[in-house]
Amino acid sequence: MATEVIHLSGAIVVDGETEAADLWSVAGRLTFEKPARAADLRIDGVVLPGLVDVHCHIGMDDAGAVTPDEARRQAIADRDTGVLLVRDAGCPRAPYSTRWLDAEPWAPRMIRSGQHLAIAKRYLRNLPRDIVPEELPDAVAEEALAGDGWVKLVGDWIDRSLPEPDLALLWPDDKLIEAVGRAHALGARVTTHVFSAEGAAQALRCGLDCIEHGTGLDEAMMAEARAKGVAVAPTMIQREHFAEIAAAGRGKYPVWERHFLRLHEERHDQARRLHEAGVKLLVGSDSSTNIPHGDYWAETDLMALAGIAPKAIVEAATYGARAYLGVPGIEEGASADVVVYAADPREDVAVLRAPQAIVLRGAVVAGAVTAGAL
Ligand SMILES: [Zn+2]
Repeated sequence: MATEVIHLSGAIVVDGETEAADLWSVAGRLTFEKPARAADLRIDGVVLPGLVDVHCHIGMDDAGAVTPDEARRQAIADRDTGVLLVRDAGCPRAPYSTRWLDAEPWAPRMIRSGQHLAIAKRYLRNLPRDIVPEELPDAVAEEALAGDGWVKLVGDWIDRSLPEPDLALLWPDDKLIEAVGRAHALGARVTTHVFSAEGAAQALRCGLDCIEHGTGLDEAMMAEARAKGVAVAPTMIQREHFAEIAAAGRGKYPVWERHFLRLHEERHDQARRLHEAGVKLLVGSDSSTNIPHGDYWAETDLMALAGIAPKAIVEAATYGARAYLGVPGIEEGASADVVVYAADPREDVAVLRAPQAIVLRGAVVAGAVTAGAL
């Protein structure tokens, strides 16, 4: 239940330029105007818009869609890191959908990308909707209508039919271009899973809106992504797993093994260069099958370890991602979805690990401060 009036004071971080000293949550809505009635609760600290995980798969595990009980556990684990807005980067809808979460006041907000689209035997089992390339435009249109403004594709994956199996593209350019056009006509954007340079290059040339993982972008592609406004979620935790992915190919797929070892070796350096090149970065934990829910802080810590400036990470985690997704952060009348810290995460993102308060729809749902304290 929302606390009727919460007074938030200290440093209210609206965006990269704007700060305020005081903010109130009144019946679940934010206002900069002091309400007539006294606050029921006051929380002091550095106040940020609720964190955003743009690549998070609430509602599935490696066997497919999970039960509502498991989806609830995943959603709460993510929320309790301060993540109050999730872009679900693809999830099966049967036999269980996560739509019911939209009506739950305790659940983080979700923007769904439909079920990820792939080709049989060209991605993980149980998770994607397998189609043939000719079906891509129609399938993208269907997923756009089933989701919340995004569609997720698998752009590259191992092709075991090659003489030397390696990462290879799934879709021909013409079908991809047509599919993106269909999504855009429906008001949806398209993001794609790509590890390889070929995958990133294709995403850029075919007009995709966003890139997941993006380990293959070189300097020229980074400049192109920046110029076109294509955002990249570098998924740092997933990059850490590339050594295991390489090991899985040992003795069987030597080209693939070498490819992943190189991507693994470059994982931090390449992420820092994305930042330095001015590419719009997003924070995506890729909580899914091999990464547990509630690991968001590992993602921001790894971005910092890679050499991305803390202020840029906070932007990517909060107001920058919200503006990109079109969801209000801290503004007059917006839902009171904020996180409060005793110190400033823009100086050290490790601060994100110790929230004073996580306020969702005007209710203190987690953190050191408990509802009722003054
Ligand atoms: Zn994913």
